[in-house]
Amino acid sequence: MNFGERPAARMNLVGGRLCLDFVNTVGGWNPDPARAKSDPYGVVARADKLNDYFDLLAWSLHTKLFSENEAQALAREAGRRNKDAAATLMRAVALRGAIYRICAAIIHEGRGARPRGADLELLNQELNVAHGRVRLGVGEGNLVWEWAGPRNTLDRMLWMVADSAAEMLTTDDLTRLRGCPGEDCGWLFLDVSKNSQRQWCDMQTCGNLAKVRRFRQRQSS
Ligand SMILES: [Zn+2]
Repeated sequence: MNFGERPAARMNLVGGRLCLDFVNTVGGWNPDPARAKSDPYGVVARADKLNDYFDLLAWSLHTKLFSENEAQALAREAGRRNKDAAATLMRAVALRGAIYRICAAIIHEGRGARPRGADLELLNQELNVAHGRVRLGVGEGNLVWEWAGPRNTLDRMLWMVADSAAEMLTTDDLTRLRGCPGEDCGWLFLDVSKNSQRQWCDMQTCGNLAKVRRFRQRQSS
């Protein structure tokens, strides 16, 4: 399978953390009008890059979670187990939404933010799966955490994403978590710049678009 052709294999990796790059597997996040009342952070994906299990593999290869050989082996496995592959994609999309909403709550509510219980519960469920898969292996000097289980386990990438989210949410400075204000963007990133002034997901895309827009507004006024 040629993964390189898929949009998921060409995503701009600007989140600063694996779990945020996973959240950013969309063209952008738009407010979900159907959920506006019940859930202030309800969003719908615009131009979703995860449309089948193989997109998930393409992204995992792109982010170097898997080698080419591992991704190809999982693609063959998924071909034999269509239903399991589809179920894994559904879990991936649900996990992505939960991480997005937890982060959105933290960004907007700041310290003491209370993410929705259902989102935390979903992340905790995926963490349970992931933590059931870790073991200690032999490293150079220290022992190291490794992912156990057969290589053909279709949901391996979700363990790593859930683990990355837990790691970020418990150890990073979350006042540096940001959502890109670019039109139709909403990508998330962790601002690790020295002066903590990063505004855009990417200066080359959203940053430039905003510049062009300001220029046009000046021209027309
Ligand atoms: Zn952006």
